[in-house]
Amino acid sequence: MTNQESHEVVIIGGGPAGLTAGLYCKRAALDAVLYEKGLIGGQIAISKEVENYPGLQGIKGFDLAEKMVRQAESFGLPVIQKEVAGVAVGGEYHTVALAGGETVRAVALILAAGGSVRKLGIPGEAEYLGSGVSYCATCDGFFFRDKTVVVVGGGDTAVEEALYLSKLTRKVYLVHRRNSLRASRILQERLMSEPAIEVIWNTIITEIRGNGSTVEGVVFENTETGEKGESPTDGVFIFVGYSPNNRLVPPEIRKNGQGFVITDDKCETSVPGIFAAGDLRQKFANQIVVAAADGCIAALAAAHYVELRKGMREGP
Ligand code: NAP
Repeated sequence: MTNQESHEVVIIGGGPAGLTAGLYCKRAALDAVLYEKGLIGGQIAISKEVENYPGLQGIKGFDLAEKMVRQAESFGLPVIQKEVAGVAVGGEYHTVALAGGETVRAVALILAAGGSVRKLGIPGEAEYLGSGVSYCATCDGFFFRDKTVVVVGGGDTAVEEALYLSKLTRKVYLVHRRNSLRASRILQERLMSEPAIEVIWNTIITEIRGNGSTVEGVVFENTETGEKGESPTDGVFIFVGYSPNNRLVPPEIRKNGQGFVITDDKCETSVPGIFAAGDLRQKFANQIVVAAADGCIAALAAAHYVELRKGMREGP
C-alpha cells in the first residue's frame, strides 16, 4: 500500500490548452489537478491584445488568461503553481515528480507545456516586446496598418508572415542572414511576386532601437561585407524558429523531427493514457482557439480512458 497522492488526471501546463482541459475534466466530474511552473495563462498572458478569439473581441491577453483560470477554478480545478521535474510512464498509474522531491500518480496525464518562440537575443528585443517587437503577425499585424515593418527569418513561417503583413502594412523588409531562403519554393515565388516586400539578403539585425516606448529603427550588419547601418521601422517581427517545451515528455512518446509530440485525433500520444494538447503537439496551426480545442479533446479522451481503466479494475 502507498499513501502517495493519486489523481485521475494530472495536467501539466496552465496555458489555454491546459486550462481548457482542466475545465472539461472537472465538468466530467474527474479528480483532476493542474500544475504550472510560471505565469498562469502561458504565452497569452504576455500578449498585448487578442483579437482573434471568437466572442471576445479585443481582449488583453492577460485578461483572457485570467478569465480562463477563473472559469476552470469555478468548476473546482486546483491550479497549483509548482514546477514539474519529470514524468515517468507507468502501467496503472503514470508518475509525476515535482520539484522538491514529492511525487504524484495519475491514471491519465495531459501534457500541455506549450512551446517557445526562438529569440534573437539582441538589445531592444525584450525591451520593446509588445511595443513594436512581435513574434506573431496574426496577433499583432493589425497594429501596423500602413506602417513599415521588418521581418526577420528565411523559413516558411517568416515568409508566410511577411506575406500576411504585406496585405496590412505599407512596406515589409524581409531580412535574412543568408543569400537563399529556407522556405518552400511556392512560398518563395509568392514572396518574390509581392511588390510590397523587399528582401534584404545576407543581413542580420544586431539591435532594435526606440524612444523608450515604441520601436523606431533597427541596427543591421551585412554578413558578407561587415557593413553596418541603421534603418527606420515601426515594427520588428521575428520568426527564427519555434521550439516545443518538450523537456518533460518521456522518451517512450513519439515526437517528430522538430520535437513536437505526435498524437492521434484524440490527442493521445503513443503511450496509452498520456495526452498532449496545445503548442506542444504536432499540428497545422498554433492559435489560442486551437490550443483550447485540443484541451477539450484531450480531457474528453482522458475521461474515457479513466472510465475504461476503472472498468478493468472493478471487473464485470
Ligand atoms: P525554420 O524553418 O527553422 O526557419 C528559421 C529561419 O530563421 C531560417 O531561415 C534561419 O536561417 C533563420 N534563423 C534562425 N536563427 C536565426 C538567427 N539567430 N538570426 C537570424 N536568422 C535566424 O523555422 P520556421 O520557419 O518557424 O518553420 C518551422 C517548421 O515549420 C519548418 O519545418 C517549416 O517547414 C514548418 N512550417 C511550414 C509551413 C507551411 O508548410 N505552410 C508554415 C510554417 C512553418 P537559416 O536558413 O540561415 O538557418
